[in-house]
Amino acid sequence: MNQRDIQRIVTAHQQREGAGFLVRRPVPTQGLDQVDPFLMLDEVGPVTYGREEALGAPDHPHRGFETVSYILQGEKLHEDSTGKTQLIGPGDVQWMTAGAGIVHSELPGPDFYKSGGVAHGFQIWVNLPARDKFATPGYQYLPAHEIPTAESPDGKVHVTVITGEAFGVQAAIGTHTPIWLQDWQVETGVETAIPLDATFNAAAYVFNGTVAFGPQSKEVQQGQMAVFGPGDSLQVAGSAPGGRFLLLAGAPIGEPVAWHGPFVMNTEEELRSAIDDYRRGRMGIIDRA
Ligand code: MN
Repeated sequence: MNQRDIQRIVTAHQQREGAGFLVRRPVPTQGLDQVDPFLMLDEVGPVTYGREEALGAPDHPHRGFETVSYILQGEKLHEDSTGKTQLIGPGDVQWMTAGAGIVHSELPGPDFYKSGGVAHGFQIWVNLPARDKFATPGYQYLPAHEIPTAESPDGKVHVTVITGEAFGVQAAIGTHTPIWLQDWQVETGVETAIPLDATFNAAAYVFNGTVAFGPQSKEVQQGQMAVFGPGDSLQVAGSAPGGRFLLLAGAPIGEPVAWHGPFVMNTEEELRSAIDDYRRGRMGIIDRA
């Protein structure tokens, strides 16, 4: 086995985005445009909202890629131009294929909005290859209890397998290209190795505690993302007090990226048609009648 080493560590500073949510965004960041096929990783919150204070993103379009919502705390209401409505609660995942174009809203769930509380979760943007950029829009939704989980033989590593495979457990969500997105929780003192296809790009974003990676067991702190170099195995060690990280790994798409706001295409011309199609209503509207 050829161990992957840490190539760089990115510290994600908290910033305000959109309507004013607090977001940590390790990618894209200065000098790191993407971890192909991952275009963006946002850790939203944790933020405590008072009654009727919670914020969200009203109707907006997407085309040419996928958006993944993974909620840890709080509740999000998704509505879209295909006519679907989905409440996404703690531990749930929504893997949305914007494909040819969708308009959706991501607002606080009505009960959560009324009561307030802690909102914490992730929004991840995954690119689609040119051949799938006009895929039929839709989403895969899994409530927390239907997401496969895996454990190390000693029970000290717990993995939520959103996509890919861990300790022999296969994910239930399908992807257009090979993508491993997983939530790993490791206890202090644990050592384990993640077999990762040598063709994959790979990164790990630590969002709780501290986790050590690579042959030198270098520590990565909460709010930092490690980007890994080549190899077919990733060594993970649980530093005190233990930690939790999102594993982002996948086959790079390797195509030109033309990105403007909510649209991610291959060329500027495709971006212009995306903007034009949206303005002309060709991505639909959310019918709330
Ligand atoms: Mn969106």
